[in-house]
Amino acid sequence: MKFGGTSLSAAKRIHTLCKIVSRQKGKHPVVVVSALAGVTNLLISLPTLSVTHQARILREIRKTHKLLIEEFFHKKAHQEVMAYIDKQLDKLAAIVKKAQTDSKEDFDVIASFGEIMSSFIITRALEQEGIMAFQIIATDLIITNNTFGAAEFLPKLTTAGIKRVIKPIIKDGIVPIVTGFIGATRDGKTTTLGRGGSDYTASILGFVLRANEIQIWTDVDGIFTADPRIVKTASPIKTISFKEASELATFGARVLHPKSIKPAIQAGVPVRVLNSFNPDGPGTLIVENPRRSRPVRAVSCKKRIILVNIYSEEMLLQKGFFARIFSLFAKYGISVDLVSVSEVSVSITLDNEGMLTKVVEELRKFSSVTVKRNLAIVSIIGKGITRSANLPKAIFATLAKQKIPVRMVSLGATDINISLVIDNDRADDAVETLHGIIA
Ligand code: ADP
Ligand code: ASP
Ligand code: MG
Repeated sequence: MKFGGTSLSAAKRIHTLCKIVSRQKGKHPVVVVSALAGVTNLLISLPTLSVTHQARILREIRKTHKLLIEEFFHKKAHQEVMAYIDKQLDKLAAIVKKAQTDSKEDFDVIASFGEIMSSFIITRALEQEGIMAFQIIATDLIITNNTFGAAEFLPKLTTAGIKRVIKPIIKDGIVPIVTGFIGATRDGKTTTLGRGGSDYTASILGFVLRANEIQIWTDVDGIFTADPRIVKTASPIKTISFKEASELATFGARVLHPKSIKPAIQAGVPVRVLNSFNPDGPGTLIVENPRRSRPVRAVSCKKRIILVNIYSEEMLLQKGFFARIFSLFAKYGISVDLVSVSEVSVSITLDNEGMLTKVVEELRKFSSVTVKRNLAIVSIIGKGITRSANLPKAIFATLAKQKIPVRMVSLGATDINISLVIDNDRADDAVETLHGIIA
């Protein structure tokens, strides 16, 4: 049972969380928590700030936790919990003092404090409500590679860690409260699993423990046909396949971390996305082969995308040209989202800058390159979607009507995703108008 930041950020929310956990106590739940809402953003801003600004942010982080603790806990517990938070904040301040602005390792250590603090609060909260709970810092059990900022778990070592640490606790009827988002390398350095990575933590635990279900408790009624914050008429999807959910997550639906699908598929564990603001709602069930009467259609959107156009008249049709291009992206650790090819050019989209200047420098040795920023990918997702003869026509007609130019298209690479690259500042309009044709 993974609870996101907004599900922890008020005393009322924590009371609900305790009730939700208590209701399922007979099923031996393992709880995963994110940092309180907004805390990770504050933490990762720290290394780059001036000393006075850092002190201000540290005070703000303390205040966020203090207000919640005072509101939720009885006086005696409240002092104990606050003492823990202050101890962590002192540790954090010392680390921030020495942190290097260009060290991903330092960023990860700093970012990990959000989940360390929230997991203690939730452990004590459950105890106050009469549920035996035990805080577990995931650096002891989720062992990852050393890709700081976007680490992947190592199955063998992690399985051993989870079995060693979690199993005995569950056996004793105690609820483990695990920090989401963080892990550690083999040599004990703290890593993070990428923004929104607590979903991935839950999925890793579900995979190793062969759970009956992985529950992602968030602030909306499941996976919607579009981000409900952008499209007011979006509606929750009852059941969706792993493949569709995975495409939606990869192409921007923040409700679920893209990496959280694979372990669930591998273990055959269904994932349920539920609303902690509406705990009795059905949510969305993600399974291998959903039974349903009508195909799912949804629109997602990934903002701040970069488009790289590589042009080379004489090279393009030469053997090994693509290999040369893609090996450069691989060499500098940049992953590519969409690709489109014409006779003399290749267009590639990326979702982050990384070491792009290095790649461009090397590409320019044998081709001409342009880089366009401030773009967005809007995707229409649903099994069999590319077999529809009318849909592409409707997509382009509706975008043309809204005067939204399309910069690149990827259609038919899979049968469940049509993606379009458009200007970032028109992304919300495009999502809304495209949702109108699929709803
Ligand atoms: P949490 O803190 O619980 O992890 P997130 O903010 O990461 O929550 O994810 C939930 C948010 O995802 C929702 O509030 C919603 O705005 C956004 N979202 C984007 N696309 C979708 C979608 N297709 N369905 C549901 N929510 C979506
Ligand atoms: N707290 C982390 C983040 O904000 C992880 C998560 O919320 O899932 O990215
Ligand atoms: Mg999230």
